[in-house]
Amino acid sequence: MLKTLELDTAMTPTETANRPPAYNLTIVGGDGIGPEVCQAALDVVKAAVGSARTLTCSDFEAGADCYTRTGIAFPKETLEACRSAHAILHGAAGLPGVLYADGTEAGQDFTLQLRNELDLYANVRPIKLYAGVTSALRRFEPGSIDYVIVRENTEGLYASRGGGVVLGDEVATDLMVITRKGVERIVRYAAELARTRNGAPSDGVKRVTIVDKSNVLRSFAFFRKVADEVMADYPDIETDYALTDAMSVYMIERPDTFDVVVSENFVGDLLSDLGAATVGGMGMSAAAELGDGHGYFQASHGTAPDIAGKGIANPVATILSGACMLEWLGHRHDDDYLITCAENIRRATSAALISGAARTRDVGGEARTADCVEAICKALA
Ligand code: ATP
Repeated sequence: MLKTLELDTAMTPTETANRPPAYNLTIVGGDGIGPEVCQAALDVVKAAVGSARTLTCSDFEAGADCYTRTGIAFPKETLEACRSAHAILHGAAGLPGVLYADGTEAGQDFTLQLRNELDLYANVRPIKLYAGVTSALRRFEPGSIDYVIVRENTEGLYASRGGGVVLGDEVATDLMVITRKGVERIVRYAAELARTRNGAPSDGVKRVTIVDKSNVLRSFAFFRKVADEVMADYPDIETDYALTDAMSVYMIERPDTFDVVVSENFVGDLLSDLGAATVGGMGMSAAAELGDGHGYFQASHGTAPDIAGKGIANPVATILSGACMLEWLGHRHDDDYLITCAENIRRATSAALISGAARTRDVGGEARTADCVEAICKALA
């Protein structure tokens, strides 16, 4: 069973037989602000873990820049390194102008292929408003927006990547793929996650909101039918429904009523950017992409070429993704110390945001990327 990412328990360190002598992390910085935010997260992760555990970090390349230099966006050695690592930490990959002949972005191949190669079926995206950050929805206080989007990550509309049909210069199609297995496992993940949480902030009810467009497309109607079958096993969790278009309104009008939200891949991609905008923007939105055997951690945002290289990117999303990584590793290897480190990173980030020292321009502050990292490391100490 995959463990959750938002446990609040602070446990004492215990020695266990299940723990590797060192955690091998594959690091892929990528493009644009990717390397900057990835290094920032790594600095914080290392500061949190200290000398009590060995983290062996190895850098590998992938993405648009790699494609431009070598003709390959996702080298085989990077895939092998990802496959054999205990976890993968990524910045962001892809640049708008670096395209394949079919017009799609070459750099996107790293993440999109990795999801299928490692069967990372659950893309788990916490939408949480931290104190010290002003939401675009000013009437909602910190604590009142705190839900998790669980995005199916291996099929849906994106399953057609590279497989769509273009007829002459006239017609183009991409097919949506929804399988029983895909829906069952993602909805089960969402329901299990809801069991570990405190419910929606508005009423404390543990709730899974199924988002689809079942009133229009058969594939989504099938998604909902299978989702309902799974939710029948969870009478303790309220099942809630929203159509995709209506959901984009509810997330603005009543974000406090959500606890866990589950959806198809493309819909989840759109909704998580919207959710990020309600809690301070893309720089605040962490993510964990999980399968039964592998964990891949990167922020929800892209490479932000408009601010790359300026030292002003907000690293908090990747830092919080690093916390997710430690927590996931801790559960996986019965290493309570790493779970405590993850919680310490969240607390330190929260404290540094409240003081203002970690607030970058996108969240209304003056801090540069390096100031933000320094403030969080100081709060950790
Ligand atoms: P992708 O499709 O690869 O996810 P995207 O098209 O959604 O990428 P982003 O790269 O996420 O686009 O950038 C969207 C906007 O958010 C840009 O204006 C960018 O500067 C801003 N942004 C994204 N990430 C950050 C960050 N970490 N710090 C500050 N601003 C950011």
